[in-house]
Amino acid sequence: MSDVDTDRVRADLTAKRAEICALLEETQEDAAPVALDQTQQGRLSRMDAMQRQEMAQAARRRRKLELERIDAAIARIDAGTFGECVRCGEEISPARLGLDPTTPLCRDCAGG
Ligand SMILES: [Zn+2]
Repeated sequence: MSDVDTDRVRADLTAKRAEICALLEETQEDAAPVALDQTQQGRLSRMDAMQRQEMAQAARRRRKLELERIDAAIARIDAGTFGECVRCGEEISPARLGLDPTTPLCRDCAGG
């Protein structure tokens, strides 16, 4: 076990998780399929809407990935393996965890 304060990390991650969940909820509509009704929207504004939708969906995908990383990190805290590289089992440096507590790999395994 490293000297990382896992209680604090868990609190931070839980707060971050709630934040992302709220964002995902908020952007649900933006990412909804574009209506095919062209009587109200011209061709250009429809392309506009599709582009906005694509961007919204990409943002949602990134947030969902982040959510998965956070969930995995919280699971590692619960399992008592937080701070250990999931690949080689070595301790991840506290500095690295400080930058990104959700990182599952040590610097060597991340190829950094
Ligand atoms: Zn490693």
